[in-house]
Amino acid sequence: MAEIKTVGVIGAGQMGNGIAHVSALAGYDVVLTDVSPAALEKGLQAIDHNMGRQVARSLITPDQMTTALKRIRTSTETKVHAEADLVIEAATEKRAVKEQIFRGLCEVLPAHTYLATNTSSITITGLASVTDRPEKFIGLHFMNPVPLMKLVEVIRGLATSQDTYDTAITFAGRIDKTTTNAGDYPAFIVNRILVPMINEAVYTLYEGVGNVESIDTAMRLGANHPMGPLQLADFIGLDTILSIMQVLYDGLGDSKYRPCPLLVKYVEAGWLGKKVGKGFYDYSGDHPVATR
Ligand code: NAD
Repeated sequence: MAEIKTVGVIGAGQMGNGIAHVSALAGYDVVLTDVSPAALEKGLQAIDHNMGRQVARSLITPDQMTTALKRIRTSTETKVHAEADLVIEAATEKRAVKEQIFRGLCEVLPAHTYLATNTSSITITGLASVTDRPEKFIGLHFMNPVPLMKLVEVIRGLATSQDTYDTAITFAGRIDKTTTNAGDYPAFIVNRILVPMINEAVYTLYEGVGNVESIDTAMRLGANHPMGPLQLADFIGLDTILSIMQVLYDGLGDSKYRPCPLLVKYVEAGWLGKKVGKGFYDYSGDHPVATR
């Protein structure tokens, strides 16, 4: 089992910056890349802000924060991942995007480097098959927000070796996460159950059974969920929710997974949720305001 010292993270969005955050705090050197320089800057700002909150709550010391921030380097170039022992891909949830990333990545990586994807729904075996090392490829599905959520789903592809699995479990333990194993089937466990519920909440809105606030209040107080399904959708990203529904629909061939047309409409409008400031709620003011 090769020792992991440097972790590469691809995609500096809400998940990628969270993975970089927890890896750096756990003592790993981190190289964080993104196609967009603006996303890298925003990602670093998010890490700074989120670690600052951990300091304010005495969860980490100011020294730990300073040291961790120094461990993170950013770049728009893939070749910096040549230094990494493990690269975790957390780019946009589109199979073509991820396949292109892994193809390009393999050209620059040393043979010992492990590969992981944070995909929410796409086949691990399929993504592994475009690489030159399917035995060193695994799914590590973090939850959002990464610094707060304890779980990582671990998904082995058909070719994933025991050594890769053991390495992934050791890594997850060091960043203080609890793992659960899921089979390599569309959306794994958490999203197979969670995302159709969110899609159903959007249908409930679409059919006028309730408005945004009544649906979220109903599920918070009636089912004791910590946040309503539409608010949760905004946190996850409506583009990500739509992609997961499409993967479920295509992969399982059951009409119960058809994405709600209203969800499609919100994504078409670019109302992708909290990350862009608007989704089922508008976040531009002091308090979120329902958009329907
Ligand atoms: P996001 O939109 O916040 O970030 C995606 C980032 O990927 C963007 O910064 C974008 O510029 C970058 N990117 C796009 N193409 C790229 C490329 N070719 N090379 C490098 N970077 C590229 O999305 P997110 O919510 O962080 O989701 C990222 C991944 O994590 C997706 O696969 C998603 O399914 C998964 N995921 C999301 C959640 C969630 O709650 N949002 C939870 C678990 C897993």
